[in-house]
Amino acid sequence: MGVSFSQLDRPAQFLKGVGPKRADALAKMGITSARDLLYHIPRRYDDASTLTPIGSLEVGLDATAVGRVRSKGVIPTRRGLRIFQVVLEDETGMITVAWPGQPWLDRKIRNGDTLLVTGPVKFFHGRQIHPREFSTLWRSGDTEPETGTIFVSYPASEDVPQWVLRRILGSNLDELLSWADDDEYLTGAQRSSRRLPGLSEALSALHRPASLSDAEVGRRRLAYDELFFLQLVQAQTRRCATEVEEGITHERSNELIRPLHESLPFALTTAQAAVLRDIYQDMKSKRRMSRLLQGDVGSGKTVVAVFAMLLAAEGGYQAALMAPTEILAEQHARRLSEWLEPLGIDVVLLTGSLTAVERRKALESIESGQALMVVGTHALIQDTVSFSRLGLVVVDEQHRFGVRQRMALVEREGLRPDVLVMSATPIPRSLAMTLYGDLDLSVLDELPPGRTPVTTVMRTPDRRDAVYAFVDEQLAEGRQAYVVYPLVSESEKVDLLSATEEFERLRKEAFPQRRVGLLHGQLRPAEKNEVMRSFLAGDLDLVVATTVIEVGIDVPNATVMVIEHAERFGLAQLHQLRGRVGRGAAESHCIMIAEPGEEALERLKVFRDTSDGFEIARADLRIRGQGDLFGSQQHGRDPLLRFADLMIDEDLLIEAQRAARELVAADPELQEPAQRRMRELLESRYRERLEMYGVG
Ligand code: ADP
Ligand code: MG
Repeated sequence: MGVSFSQLDRPAQFLKGVGPKRADALAKMGITSARDLLYHIPRRYDDASTLTPIGSLEVGLDATAVGRVRSKGVIPTRRGLRIFQVVLEDETGMITVAWPGQPWLDRKIRNGDTLLVTGPVKFFHGRQIHPREFSTLWRSGDTEPETGTIFVSYPASEDVPQWVLRRILGSNLDELLSWADDDEYLTGAQRSSRRLPGLSEALSALHRPASLSDAEVGRRRLAYDELFFLQLVQAQTRRCATEVEEGITHERSNELIRPLHESLPFALTTAQAAVLRDIYQDMKSKRRMSRLLQGDVGSGKTVVAVFAMLLAAEGGYQAALMAPTEILAEQHARRLSEWLEPLGIDVVLLTGSLTAVERRKALESIESGQALMVVGTHALIQDTVSFSRLGLVVVDEQHRFGVRQRMALVEREGLRPDVLVMSATPIPRSLAMTLYGDLDLSVLDELPPGRTPVTTVMRTPDRRDAVYAFVDEQLAEGRQAYVVYPLVSESEKVDLLSATEEFERLRKEAFPQRRVGLLHGQLRPAEKNEVMRSFLAGDLDLVVATTVIEVGIDVPNATVMVIEHAERFGLAQLHQLRGRVGRGAAESHCIMIAEPGEEALERLKVFRDTSDGFEIARADLRIRGQGDLFGSQQHGRDPLLRFADLMIDEDLLIEAQRAARELVAADPELQEPAQRRMRELLESRYRERLEMYGVG
């Protein structure tokens, strides 16, 4: 079946007012078809009623104003700086607008043009506005379209300035809107149950809003569409991973699960119990489990994993737990043994540090199926390790974006074990649903009772000696401490130098009585392990580390984390670092040494005042913006989400996921005639781009 043709597929070149040259310039902005132009929506709206009349612009205000250019010119200054200036006027008065150092604007702006300018009003030979941002709304001589009271500003380029876009849209928009419903894939009933406008209505509201809330209704419609198609691709992936071929139907006897419940020194939290119910249900169904378990540092993910592993073992299946590093694998193995050996269950550890004899022995018991609980590094699944009856793989994943690769690794040799990925970096639910919409999501949103929050403070570098004195007091009480230095971008060598120099200084001058170790990225793995093992064993009092410090490492006796140049760390990283302390009964401290600028200060204050990892993650999303999280910079101009905002559209996302999963369950390949338009849109507009982002 061919794709039905829509006028929207016409090349942009055939639009009114677009010749070959302009078409090239538009193409550089990603606009090649009529549809692209229709979906080129404003990046900014200004409500005329909130603009300041020029006569009322006061020095000290930060204002947005609209006016007509009355005169203009380039003014040289004595120091050689050339300033482009215009006099802008409206019915209420005139003001000078000045662009220091931008004389070339003289060629872009003409007398009679209507400009929108935003910036601070200063006093300099009278009132002046220094624009941070401006656009030419209309060129002199253009007939001003009836816009109502909202000024829209489009993303423009050097070659296609604002006024050109407005002119092209002005002469084509009515026609474009009349074609917009060609792309409609929702029925009227579906739209009204989701409280969404039709496409032509939405696009009209975006280009010519009667009010700001009007534009917002339009935006939500386009946001829903992009979220829906994202979730649709993910629902198809999820179906392939979990349903097309059957997984294992685990059976629960309680033979192992009950004794562990009885012997654990604590009761599960409500959140742990709820998450386990979901996991058991997945494992007992014939669907294959593919689930992401998110939880804050210390929320107790490991014990959840162990119960899941026991369910597999009860039916005679093997379970594997994989950690990103040897140290963490050893740590997991130690904890599992503590819990399981009293119940008569052996835990087999497989890492690169085993002797040849130990390794052969471990491999044999894995191959024979005798080893029910296997712990190792991620190499477990890549290696030549063959399991006899692998029923569950638990992946302890420290890096935010490694999850999908790990899932893929489990697909081999016809094995279809259930998969549980544990992520130690909390991300907001909406972001998790976007990045991992093909997985089921469980969240441990509660910490076990009785934790004392880590005291967090910020100190300027001139108070470093006082910080050291405090650290030394803690060490004198038998505690241990970390001092962490950031990785200065790119230059690993410079870092190494500074961490090494600092190590020497701390060892010789600041803490001469203490046993100080050094940990950095240029050490061989065996050397790193050696330092961490000594620290864990209490043979070192203090570890000086760069960012290689193991996320997830558990040294309960460590009570102080000093973070040098804290302003260079991201929020998630800071939170992970702080998670290294506060793991025992004693009160713990996190001390940031920093001289932050304004931007970093906001981040560090959030960190200082918040201990909840999910709250920190939401603040991170708010401060950095979602574009940063998807790496849209690397992908050029077209971000994964253009219209949806994960901070405010969670309700749309949940609805989109529900609708997509329901549809895929009923009609996996979208074969029904009613889904024809949707299928065409998926293939022509969405799939390729989503795959480029690796979310399909
Ligand atoms: P995570 O891996 O999520 O960071 P862990 O699994 O390492 O957290 O658990 C942190 C600590 O809390 C461990 O010492 C664990 O034994 C303990 N713990 C886990 N669940 C509970 C609970 N329900 N009550 C008390 N302590 C718990
Ligand atoms: Mg199953």
